[in-house]
Amino acid sequence: MIETKIQLKDLVAALKNSEFVYYYQPKVSMVTGELSGAEALIRWKKPDGTIIPPCEFIPLAESSGFINEITLSMFQQLIVDMSIIHDLNDSLVISFNASAKDFVNNKLTEVIRNSITNKLIVPDRLEVELTETAILKTKGVEVYLRQLENIGVHIAMDDFGTGFSSIDMLSQLPFSCVKIDQGVVSRMEDSDKDFSIVESSIRMVHDLDLTVVAEGIETERTYKILVDMGCSVGQGYWMSRPLPLHEFINLVVLKRQWPTSTRGLLCMAQLDHMKWRKAIIDGASFLISRKGKNTALRGAPELDSSACRLGKWYYGQGRKFSGTKHYDALEEPHRCLYQAGMELLEYAKSGASKKELILYMRKVSEQSIIVINLLHELEKELFLIDDFD
Ligand code: C2E
Ligand code: MG
Ligand code: MG
Repeated sequence: MIETKIQLKDLVAALKNSEFVYYYQPKVSMVTGELSGAEALIRWKKPDGTIIPPCEFIPLAESSGFINEITLSMFQQLIVDMSIIHDLNDSLVISFNASAKDFVNNKLTEVIRNSITNKLIVPDRLEVELTETAILKTKGVEVYLRQLENIGVHIAMDDFGTGFSSIDMLSQLPFSCVKIDQGVVSRMEDSDKDFSIVESSIRMVHDLDLTVVAEGIETERTYKILVDMGCSVGQGYWMSRPLPLHEFINLVVLKRQWPTSTRGLLCMAQLDHMKWRKAIIDGASFLISRKGKNTALRGAPELDSSACRLGKWYYGQGRKFSGTKHYDALEEPHRCLYQAGMELLEYAKSGASKKELILYMRKVSEQSIIVINLLHELEKELFLIDDFD
C-alpha cells in the first residue's frame, strides 16, 4: 500500500475529531526508586486504531503554525488526565512538550495561569519541556517563561547536549530541570567520551541546583551507571515505554519500586563538600584582602549545616539510614564544621591578621577531614545494603 503524505488538512481534521491523545512515560526518582512523575507524549490515534508517532506530524504542525491549536487543545486534555492521576498520587510532576512557537504570544501562558487560578492544577506539579534550539530560534519566549516561573510552574530544558549554546541558555532562562538527551545517554555504555559528557553534565546541573533527568535509559546497566553518577531522575524504556492513560494509572496504583544506591549521592556530597571548603577559604582570603572593610561576599558559601546539600540529604532522604553507625556519627562533626567555617569568615571580616586566621583555617581543615572520612565509611557501610548486586 502506498502511504499518503500527511497534510495540514489531515491534522486539522484529526484535532476536530479528538484523535490526538497523550501517552504517559514514567519518570523514576533515582534517589528513592519511586515513580516521581511522567512525561505526556502526543500520539495520533486514528479511528482504525493505528497509532502515529509525533515525529510523523509534529514537524508539519510546527512549520505550518498549527502546533498552537494542538498545544492549546491538548492542554485541556492534560488538565483532565492530571486530575485523574493526582487523585491517586498528588506528588507526581507531569510534564508536557511545548513548542517555542507556543510562547510567541501570551495564549498558552494565560491558559496555564487560568487553570491554576481556577485550582484545576497545582503549579509545582506541572512542567513544560522545551528544546533549547527551538528557544534560540524564537524571539520573545523569555518573557512568558519568566511569567510561568513566577507562578510556580517548572520549566525543563529538553534534549540537552544536542543543540547550540546550551550552557549559555541555562544561565539566561528560568529552567528548573535539565533533561540529558537520550542519544548521549544510550551511547554512554560504549563510549568513554559520552560517559564523561553525561557525568560532567550531571555534575554541572547539580552545581546549578537544578534537577537532572536522564532520558533514553534502555538497560539496567545504563540505569545503574546513572544512579552511581548521582543522577536525580531517570526515564526510558527499561523502566517503561510511554503508556496510554489507563495503563499509566495501573502503574501508579502498583506503587512500583526501582533499585537505588546511595553511592552516587555520597560521591556528590564529597565533591560538594570540597567545593564548600574551597569557597570558605577563598571567602576568608578575599575578606582579609579587604582589610576589615564591610564587603559582601559574592556567591557566599552556605553557613547553615541543615540547608547545605549534604544537610538536606541528611535530614531528608538520608533519614532512612538513621541507626547505621556512620550516618548517626556524621551529624555532630558536620555541624561543628559549619560552626568553624562561620567563625573563620567572622574573624576574616573583623580584620584579623593572616597569622590569627591560620588557626581558624586549621580548625576548618580538621573538621573537614573528619566529615570526609565519615562519608567514606558511610559509603562502605551502605554499599552492603545497596539494591544492586
Ligand atoms: P522528547 O520530548 O525528547 O520525548 C522523548 C522521546 O523519547 C519520546 O519519543 C519517547 O517515547 C522516546 N523514548 C523514551 N525512552 C526511550 C528509550 O529508552 N529509548 C528510545 N530510543 N526512545 C525513548 P516520542 O514520543 O516519539 O516523541 C518524540 C518527540 O516528539 C519528543 O521528544 C518531543 O520533542 C516531540 N513531542 C512529543 N509529544 C509532543 C507534544 O505534545 N507537543 C510537541 N510540540 N512535541 C511533542
Ligand atoms: Mg520532552
Ligand atoms: Mg527529550
